[in-house]
Amino acid sequence: MSRLQEPLARAIGDKTATVLADGLGLHTVGELLRHYPRRYAERGRFTDLAELRPDEHVTVLAEIAAVSRRPMRQRRGSLLEVVVTDGHGRLTLTFFNQPWREQELRAGRRGLFAGKVSSFRGKVQLTHPDYQLLDDEDVVEDPAAFTDALIPVYAATTALPSWRLAKAVRTVLDTLDETVDDADPLPELVRARHRLPRLRAMLEFLHQPRSAHDVAMARRRLRWEEAFLLQTVLAQRRAAIEATPATPRRATPGGLLEAFDARLPFTLTAGQREVGAQLAADLAERHPMHRLLQGEVGSGKTVVALRAMLTVVDAGGQAALLAPTEVLAQQHHRVLTALLGPLAEGGLLGGAESGTRVALLTGSQGAAARRRALLDAASGDAGIVVGTHALLEEDVTFVDLGLVVVDEQHRFGVEQRDTLRAKADKPPHLLVMTATPIPRTVAMTVFGDLEISTLHELPAGRSIVATHVVPVAEKPAYFQRTWGRIREEVAAGRQVYVVCPRIGEQPASDGVTMDGVAADETGDATSTADDADVAGERRRPPLAVLEVAPMLAEGPLAGLRVDVLHGRMPAEDKEAVMRRFGAGDVDVLVATTVIEVGVDVPNATVMVVVDAERFGVSQLHQLRGRVGRGDAPGLCLLVTDAPAGTPARGRLDAVAATLDGFELARVDLEQRREGDVLGSSQSGRRSSLRWLGVIRDEDLIKAARQEAGALVAADPQLRGHPALAAAVATLIEGERADHLDYLDKA
Ligand code: ADP
Ligand code: MG
Repeated sequence: MSRLQEPLARAIGDKTATVLADGLGLHTVGELLRHYPRRYAERGRFTDLAELRPDEHVTVLAEIAAVSRRPMRQRRGSLLEVVVTDGHGRLTLTFFNQPWREQELRAGRRGLFAGKVSSFRGKVQLTHPDYQLLDDEDVVEDPAAFTDALIPVYAATTALPSWRLAKAVRTVLDTLDETVDDADPLPELVRARHRLPRLRAMLEFLHQPRSAHDVAMARRRLRWEEAFLLQTVLAQRRAAIEATPATPRRATPGGLLEAFDARLPFTLTAGQREVGAQLAADLAERHPMHRLLQGEVGSGKTVVALRAMLTVVDAGGQAALLAPTEVLAQQHHRVLTALLGPLAEGGLLGGAESGTRVALLTGSQGAAARRRALLDAASGDAGIVVGTHALLEEDVTFVDLGLVVVDEQHRFGVEQRDTLRAKADKPPHLLVMTATPIPRTVAMTVFGDLEISTLHELPAGRSIVATHVVPVAEKPAYFQRTWGRIREEVAAGRQVYVVCPRIGEQPASDGVTMDGVAADETGDATSTADDADVAGERRRPPLAVLEVAPMLAEGPLAGLRVDVLHGRMPAEDKEAVMRRFGAGDVDVLVATTVIEVGVDVPNATVMVVVDAERFGVSQLHQLRGRVGRGDAPGLCLLVTDAPAGTPARGRLDAVAATLDGFELARVDLEQRREGDVLGSSQSGRRSSLRWLGVIRDEDLIKAARQEAGALVAADPQLRGHPALAAAVATLIEGERADHLDYLDKA
């Protein structure tokens, strides 16, 4: 057993061990040592006392300026007041009935003081703080070492101030010898090549740094460790996939795929052809394809996916297309059926001989329709089955499921993907499609077990979407003009989207709080609310579909056919609205982000996003992809209250300035916390990166990926690297736990 597994009770005694277990959930030596300091205080400089806020748990480094003791007025006993200073601010420490403290708390002494900040008669104070006075000898012996050294500051509680943690860590570290390096997950060679400190050294650098350089070295190693472990897991997954048998699928000469290509009303772009060839090669392999297809909205992913599905059908198999919402599943079904034409009428009178059928399975369909779809899937009559989560249910069976296509994977959990794959004898090929452009390093971390194909260009003839920011306050005339513009567009026979961040309940004052807002719809729309909240000023609730629609219909858009679409509507109502909009029977569709993904109405040319600053950059980019899908140019107007010069406004300007989704994904990444980027909403996986920045650490991630790939290729089971194998096992364990947690909440 490694020293790191030793129970804390044995290492540092029951008393402290209990506090550590109860307060911070730390049970072993290793866990304590991995509880790294949150930051470091510099001895040479005093902590800024002017910055203290009530209710904060703080640890400050200060000098005692004055001490006074007086009897209390109402009660018996005495009150000791100690004023400390860092040269800028002052802080009062109060002790009741502890006169003996006066002996050691003498003016001129310095120390660390910790406690919860409270405010009494306008003065900030700590009541009964824990403290540790610094020895004067520190200064005398080695002044340079004293001022340079960093004091680790740990996440602490009142019961467990920072230095008690430091003391426990010191006790443990002092008895830790070099053998701990045997438990180092980073292989010697990797460490040497990239000049990373060993495990023990890293722990020392983090807990007892002598300089900022120590901390920097240690943190670099932490990032490396995180990247390397993750990449090892991913490399193992890729290796496992390669070792899994799958049925190769090739298109038949003169078969369905050829017939389809012959009746395509357009020519494929170079990108579509290239990706098509990649997919065909993957499908012909004896191990499952595992590929991510990314491409902007409108880049023509659907056709590419359909051609892959037809390849599999040609080869006697079936394909399933999994969509995140009913609206999308229905639309996919419509689009695929239309693209296939007579080829989708297999077995029917008048259908093409080589044809197949496209079945639709959703949660809301009637019993008869469902029975027919189930039968079509189970009998193999349907070569293609499109559906939502309903596809995952137990009674859905296939004759020979050869390919699973997942659309907009970021709304699907990994587990759900696997459920569907389990419906085949041999693992089917997998194609995941996303319209969210994923920067390379994110792809290498979050989706690192998938190969990646990208459609870079939009089909020729695709119109450009002009985007403008409409600042309501600065340019009220612009804003007025917005609705006039909509009327003109409708008069010209076009259709319009108005997107709102919220569904809404009753009109106006429904008492929505800032917190309540996020619960609406996807929650994404308000992810940027914080920084727009200027100086704590209370904002009005974001505009809601159910308020805006009647306002427009009775006001500036009176006489036009206005309808609404949002996530709380029953599926059949949503479908009906989409059908009416698709048929041109609705002029203006007021909607939430339900239209973000994949909705395709070429006659829609203008999109107005109100309260646009409430949406994320990538989300706005996705949204505007809904217009300009036909032959007429698209126009997107981002209406906002955000004042010029604010970060919120900067984001909108960025969206208006470029149509490059990858560029915007970068802007998005730089502005959001990494955790959000990698959180469940994006990846279906919660494991977020603790130390790595996916943009900042691009080079490091690449290097780690290379090292991990080479190591796994040479030693897939990690037999020669037991410490690494153990760390990987722990990581996978944690991920599984996280995932269960995620499913519970879903
Ligand atoms: P995505 O799924 O990537 O958002 P779609 O596959 O829905 O994009 O394609 C958008 C539109 O462009 C569809 O109407 C589709 O029929 C059309 N399209 C696809 N490929 C081409 C092409 N090569 N040339 C012209 N139009 C195309
Ligand atoms: Mg699509």
